[in-house]
Amino acid sequence: MPLPVSEVARNSRKWQAGLKALTSPIWPLCNMALMLFMAGPYRHFDELLKELPDGIEMESLHYPSAKALLAQYVDLLTPFESFKPGNSIDVSPDNIPSRIEDSKGNPLDFMDTVRAWVKQRVLARELEGINSLLCGPCQCVLCCIGPVRDARHFFFEIPLSPAEVSLFDLPIRSSAQTRKMCPEDEPPLRIHGIPFYLSRSAIYEWQRGWSMILTREAKCPNLTRDGSCAIYSNRPLTCRRPQIFPFIVECRNDKNLTNLSLRDTILAIWDCPYVRALKSEIIEYARLCEADVIFRENKA
Ligand code: SF4
Ligand code: SF4
Repeated sequence: MPLPVSEVARNSRKWQAGLKALTSPIWPLCNMALMLFMAGPYRHFDELLKELPDGIEMESLHYPSAKALLAQYVDLLTPFESFKPGNSIDVSPDNIPSRIEDSKGNPLDFMDTVRAWVKQRVLARELEGINSLLCGPCQCVLCCIGPVRDARHFFFEIPLSPAEVSLFDLPIRSSAQTRKMCPEDEPPLRIHGIPFYLSRSAIYEWQRGWSMILTREAKCPNLTRDGSCAIYSNRPLTCRRPQIFPFIVECRNDKNLTNLSLRDTILAIWDCPYVRALKSEIIEYARLCEADVIFRENKA
């Protein structure tokens, strides 16, 4: 059980900024901008942005600097420009994926595909910033260590891109056998005759890509004695991701961004102290973003 968030942490400038952002989500503002854009005579979002007032009020939400806030996300809204006459359509994983499936495995129509993908990316950017603000004051290192001795899980996995593998001073295990398997396979991958998670922590190349496996009671080699990250400004993407995840689109193959399904859910990891402290705010965040919410334990 994580320690409760202290009063000192709650009164810190970073915590207050994170809380403010969590209680004023960007998606309702983006949604309004998308409706205005689609209905108006605009070909590019910049044209709409110029016409917006600085302050905007919507239901319980007040955006005193709406224009400046939206400007931080406008690059992620540009796939909607594909629907305007004269603009080209760039269907690629970096812009618009070719197929997202609904819960029955049927492809979404093009408009819903674009909308889901844009929403996933907008929320990912916003929640990454909120995570960075809320994590520091908690003085917690849970994301950087393996499960405790008597935990239900044997290991903690941190997915990595190929370029991030060299950031860690750990053994690398990459073979035809590892590349055929996933960490959760039963029976598990064996290293020197024992399940991989009973061996020491290492970097593996799995069927779905690279990851660091932290075994029970292990810690990331980049975690310093004072609890900070030795490569903080260069840390992998997974370490920047929040414990409140946008799960609007689920990707079941991180290697090449295929097998995408619509989930329209916010996933919050219950092990994290700020998730426990802000449960009702996270539920409200999800409601304002028109998404379901799931709280899940990761390391129990
Ligand atoms: S790289 Fe840094 S942030 Fe990521 S797990 Fe290691 S110590 Fe933690
Ligand atoms: S569990 Fe939460 S507070 Fe702890 S290190 Fe991870 S993100 Fe930060």
